[in-house]
Amino acid sequence: MRDDRHWRQAWLELIDEITRYVKYLQEMGIEEYDATMPMGADRLPLPPLASAAHLAESGASKEVETSALSESSSGEHITVKGESPMAQKKKRVTGQAQASLFGDLAPAESPGESPLPVDETLDDIRADIGECTRCKLHEHRTHIVFGEGNPHADLMFVGEGPGADEDATGRPFVGRAGQLLDRMIEAIGMKREQVYIANIVKCRPPGNREPEPDEVATCEPFLYRQINVIRPKLVVALGGVATKTLLRTKAPISKLRGRFFDFRGTKLLPTFHPAFLLRSPNKKRDAWEDLKKVRDFLQGKIVE
Ligand code: SF4
Repeated sequence: MRDDRHWRQAWLELIDEITRYVKYLQEMGIEEYDATMPMGADRLPLPPLASAAHLAESGASKEVETSALSESSSGEHITVKGESPMAQKKKRVTGQAQASLFGDLAPAESPGESPLPVDETLDDIRADIGECTRCKLHEHRTHIVFGEGNPHADLMFVGEGPGADEDATGRPFVGRAGQLLDRMIEAIGMKREQVYIANIVKCRPPGNREPEPDEVATCEPFLYRQINVIRPKLVVALGGVATKTLLRTKAPISKLRGRFFDFRGTKLLPTFHPAFLLRSPNKKRDAWEDLKKVRDFLQGKIVE
């Protein structure tokens, strides 16, 4: 009799959480979810199902891996009850309901996360890139913009791709948007030399168009190798293209900015691209709120 009550309570909690997850997906602007999507397709990071874990502890059914990603929003941290974040990451739970409803929940397994070279340096990666012609962006570039900054940075910014100034100089974020980024970095008490700055693609897309999927797919492994070498505490994705690429989601930046996501063994926070802020100065206030979270996280005032 006691077992029956236990199971009933566990299933009620699971149903309650599934309802919560559906609302979460709707909030993110997702109207359809294709559970058959392959790895690396547009995926939204989802927190683990607490009740699924609870059911697992109760001994319920088949083995499925939970999402490695938890996400907090508006001060509400979504956690598996009674467990440390590290324990949650490693938790293996059971529950066919989770698998069938959400498929593989983890977006963090991006293509670049397949085995990476060990013990390499940024110089090794740059040497490997060479005078790259791996994608069609090489046709119009002047310089490859590899990235620059502190190779041991706690904070790394990732933008979309080089613009005209960057193409001309071979340095990331040196135009007007770059000057604003410098001011954003200084606003949180840091200097440009303390952080590392890179882009999703290393050659300028003609006319400053967005990089195309094949170009991103060809170039992004270099970025992941850079992240793997630098191992920053926090990656700040600048703008929608960088955010969507890194988090494998179609959700708009307006829905994701200012939130912390698990990403490749570190944390990622999306915010607006400085070029967008130059066009939309009324969004600077939002960006400042995001930057304060970056500062507080790096200072240990926010634990994610
Ligand atoms: S964008 Fe990347 S992959 Fe394409 S040519 Fe430049 S360095 Fe090579």
